[in-house]
Amino acid sequence: MIKDNVRRIREYIFWICSKINRRHHSITIVAVSKGRTCEEIKEAQEAGITDIGENRVQEALIKYNELRTMNYKLRTHMVGHLQTNKVKDAVKIFDLIQSVDSMRLALEIDKQAAKINKIQDVLVEVKTSPETTKFGLEPEEAIGVIKEIVKLKNINIKGLMTIAPIFDDSEKTRPYFRMLRELKDKINTLHLTPCTLDTLSMGMTDDFKIAIEEGSNMVRLGRAIFERQGTVP
Ligand SMILES: *Cc1c(COP(=O)(O)O)cnc(C)c1O
Repeated sequence: MIKDNVRRIREYIFWICSKINRRHHSITIVAVSKGRTCEEIKEAQEAGITDIGENRVQEALIKYNELRTMNYKLRTHMVGHLQTNKVKDAVKIFDLIQSVDSMRLALEIDKQAAKINKIQDVLVEVKTSPETTKFGLEPEEAIGVIKEIVKLKNINIKGLMTIAPIFDDSEKTRPYFRMLRELKDKINTLHLTPCTLDTLSMGMTDDFKIAIEEGSNMVRLGRAIFERQGTVP
């Protein structure tokens, strides 16, 4: 089932990209494996998934340990809210922390990454809608925080992440995704970061088509990959 899901998602992304003249290879699929077993992750990997995401450090620690003993190598992403007291573990196990939503958190990541001699790749999470009670920086404060984060030696900002509000009609998510893309373009035009930001992590099972149309190059998919259901045509 997981293999079929991944194949259908790939074909769907190929179709979306062909309509808007984008290269389908430029879209990274992050399989969000929270609540799923290592067996399920293994099946996803055998279907060609290279990136996995978790939203809790504790769960990730346990599963990544198990995956290591099974000799599975995947790129790991932290996609959920990160508490400062979990940062020490997080920098050890995640290739990309997608949920940097405060300067306080960025400072802690920098500190803990320095201790293990790591430059931690991160995304800055932006709250693109007032409706969601989710975490994330307001778009207006994001630029100020990014200007401060770039001064930190052990953090490398790769791009931005957002979670759109949930609607029955996914088309309604479009303005939120567009806002994130425009914010990224603005940051790049102003040359606020040493390297151009290139990652836009946006789009989940119900709205990744719209997100890709609006410029996403990283989609975070849980149900579409791991569940038997028909949100992907
Ligand atoms: C769970 C989760 C996802 C995946 O959600 P689906 O709707 O199952 O695709 C994506 N991003 C974050 C931050 C999540 O917590």
